[in-house]
Amino acid sequence: MANSRKVVIIGSGPAAYTAAIYAVRAGLDPLLFGGVMMGGQLATTTDVENFPGFPEPVTGPDLMDRMRKQCERLGVTIVPEFVSKVDLSKPPFSIETTEGKKALADALIVATGADARYLGLPSETRLRGKGVSACATCDGFFFKGKEVCVIGGGDTALEDALFLTRVTAKVTVIHRRDKLRASNAMQEKARGNPKLAWVWNAIIEEILGADAVTGVRVKDVKTGASRELPCGGVFIAVGHTPNTAFLAGQLKLDAGGYIETDGRCRTSVPGVFAAGDVMDPHYRQAVTSAGNGCVAALEAERHLASEA
Ligand code: NDP
Repeated sequence: MANSRKVVIIGSGPAAYTAAIYAVRAGLDPLLFGGVMMGGQLATTTDVENFPGFPEPVTGPDLMDRMRKQCERLGVTIVPEFVSKVDLSKPPFSIETTEGKKALADALIVATGADARYLGLPSETRLRGKGVSACATCDGFFFKGKEVCVIGGGDTALEDALFLTRVTAKVTVIHRRDKLRASNAMQEKARGNPKLAWVWNAIIEEILGADAVTGVRVKDVKTGASRELPCGGVFIAVGHTPNTAFLAGQLKLDAGGYIETDGRCRTSVPGVFAAGDVMDPHYRQAVTSAGNGCVAALEAERHLASEA
């Protein structure tokens, strides 16, 4: 028998937990499917210094642990299973996990996040958290006064690079082509910045360093020549993949695969809401995700009241 709930939440990052906190306090008895690796992207980061309320840095895993405990104390039912299938054709919506657990929901909040793409180099994996990062806003401050590289040529790469010029000594953008994908406005901002340097037509062969990043070895794709560039940090900005595959085309997505919402976290299906990185390719911050997790829960509550 499927577990029948007023609200089911999928995800276990700041958006999902915040939605759960608001839903449980509204008396909606939410069920949260958190995936096998609970905690979202923050569970894999180190110090978080930009989440309000923590005068001393808190680690990503600790922050997520606190959010989970807060949910548990308030009475949220948390199931650490991965949702593989949903049917959103009509309410109640059905949800099924890879382990075969089933639930029915009058309202559904999707907060499954997005995963940063990496280059796939063994040296990149080995040095992640030791100078390799996919989040300039989160980790840039730890590279104060150092020289760093940003990999990519899109808006994220340039935004990250511009952000990093404020804290680091020098930022080198390394792009695999000689033409940026970033918007003209972003390019304008970046081009005049004296702290930015550019390496065109180059791919990363290896990130150098034993216990911490000391540089990168880049290969010129036109000449085939390799050279080493010293730097203390490498920021990977080659895009994100929103976790929407399990929706199987049942919600309207944008060209990048992000769930389309109307500014109030409402999706193309009435009764289904989305919050956090799965619907936000722009800000991707714990605090903005938490904010729209709250909006999604308030909108779900409003929706259920209007249906009653
Ligand atoms: P994009 O997909 O736009 O850009 C990814 C970049 O990474 C491209 O330049 C791509 O190169 C490069 N890349 C991809 N894979 C590799 C690889 N394996 N090795 C080397 N380079 C690689 O992603 P973004 O995250 O930049 O942006 C996503 C969306 O969010 C966009 O729509 C963007 O406009 C938007 N955005 C808007 C912002 C704003 O307006 N302030 C800020 C941030 C994002 P290539 O160009 O050769 O394909």
